[in-house]
Amino acid sequence: MRIFNSLSKQIEEFKPIEPDFVKVYCCGPTVYKDQQIGNWRTFCLSDFLNRSLKLFGYKVDFIMNMTDVGHLFETGADPEGGEDKIEKQSTEEGRSAREIVEMYTKSFLEEYKEMNFLEPKKFTKATEYIDDQINLIATLEERGFTYETSDGVYFDTSKFEQYGELSGLTMENIKEGARIDPNPEKRNPTDFALWKFSPSDKKRQQEWQSPWGVGFPGWHLECSSMIMKELGNTIDIHVGGEDLKMIHHQNEIAQSECATGQKFVNYWVHGAFLTVDGGKMSKSLGNFYTLSDVKQRGFSPLDLRYLFMTSHYRGPLNFTWEAMQNAQNSLKRIYELVSSYVYDPKAEISDKFMKKFKEKLEEDLNIPEVLAVVWELIKSSIPEESKLNTILKMDDFLGLKLQEHIGVEIPKNVLDLAKMRGEYRKNGIWDKADVLRRQVNDLGYVIDDIPNGDFKVKKKF
Ligand code: AMP
Ligand code: ZN
Repeated sequence: MRIFNSLSKQIEEFKPIEPDFVKVYCCGPTVYKDQQIGNWRTFCLSDFLNRSLKLFGYKVDFIMNMTDVGHLFETGADPEGGEDKIEKQSTEEGRSAREIVEMYTKSFLEEYKEMNFLEPKKFTKATEYIDDQINLIATLEERGFTYETSDGVYFDTSKFEQYGELSGLTMENIKEGARIDPNPEKRNPTDFALWKFSPSDKKRQQEWQSPWGVGFPGWHLECSSMIMKELGNTIDIHVGGEDLKMIHHQNEIAQSECATGQKFVNYWVHGAFLTVDGGKMSKSLGNFYTLSDVKQRGFSPLDLRYLFMTSHYRGPLNFTWEAMQNAQNSLKRIYELVSSYVYDPKAEISDKFMKKFKEKLEEDLNIPEVLAVVWELIKSSIPEESKLNTILKMDDFLGLKLQEHIGVEIPKNVLDLAKMRGEYRKNGIWDKADVLRRQVNDLGYVIDDIPNGDFKVKKKF
């Protein structure tokens, strides 16, 4: 498998640390609101990656976190100079921070299932790793990478030579390009908080004791702690949206590598944005749709999954309802065809099509071309039974729940109506035959007449 590594900025041959076993981490949601479908695009990328790795025979240990503390809004010049997202939402909704977290964690997990993503080994929550985060700061302090200001404990980025390797920015051009830094106590514009003290004039709902004072962990820290604890000091693949590359992931690398002295991540995989009118779709910008919006307009989460497959993960995808409609039409057509094919579990799986399918995946997850192979298979002249078994095998990767649409069992009452209609037809009693056809339709099935006078009943989608 070959994959684009944001660290080397090129497509590389994927070589796992252990031969058959891959450790994957994806930065998950901040659970202060319902997820917008841009978030789902990124989570879908981690699912595509995990499913490909499995298709290629690897065992995958996958961890996704849920940020339930410490994620601050950005303000003009400062990426984390604003209010705490969860505390702010708590005030707006008149619910406690805990209730907010519980509510949006629940909706996230339900929707995660609806998108048909593979379950991770664990969903890790930042608040369940507070001690680990404190220990990580202590290690960094011992090694001389931290300093204290009036509002927290900071990481001194000038002490990490490779700072900027991932983002492509050197310390010099970061300094030159830096806007006026709102925090004059920071030694370098890129330094970031490892621990933030609770404000003296306001009681925070989420705060903990630490050797440096009462407060809460900086947002970047949680991912490093959870990765080290659950997967080890060095992992194979780290996934996230492209917005996280410049700061969040750069900071994850800095604090992890300075604490362990080991390489943190071998392959960084970043997904491009889902855009609206050419700009990023985002919870904080308010220009977003949620999965509920999508469902309310009559589309299924799997229609959205199909839509995500129509563009390469490194290219932007502009969201429109028209594109959503096209995705739904295509998926409906696949369901219809799958349900019309004769199912024989022993039928041969086409090596030729499977090979092509994997070749497209292997080349930096070229999923639009993977879909093209699916359609090529559908249009090919290989026997229906083989087509069906091949497409079902492909669905281990596609995750479109095709299995649910095969050999759809037709209820007896529907079959009886269809048979009776067949009899009327044979005897030329067209009006009665038509009434029965409509009844079958109303029950959600269609009758296809076959030239020899016989018929086939199919489920409508
Ligand atoms: P957040 O909940 O904002 O912390 O984001 C969770 C994940 O979704 C991160 O990996 C983000 O990079 C990603 N993300 C946020 N907005 C978008 C978008 N419009 N398109 C793709 N990914 C996004
Ligand atoms: Zn992260």
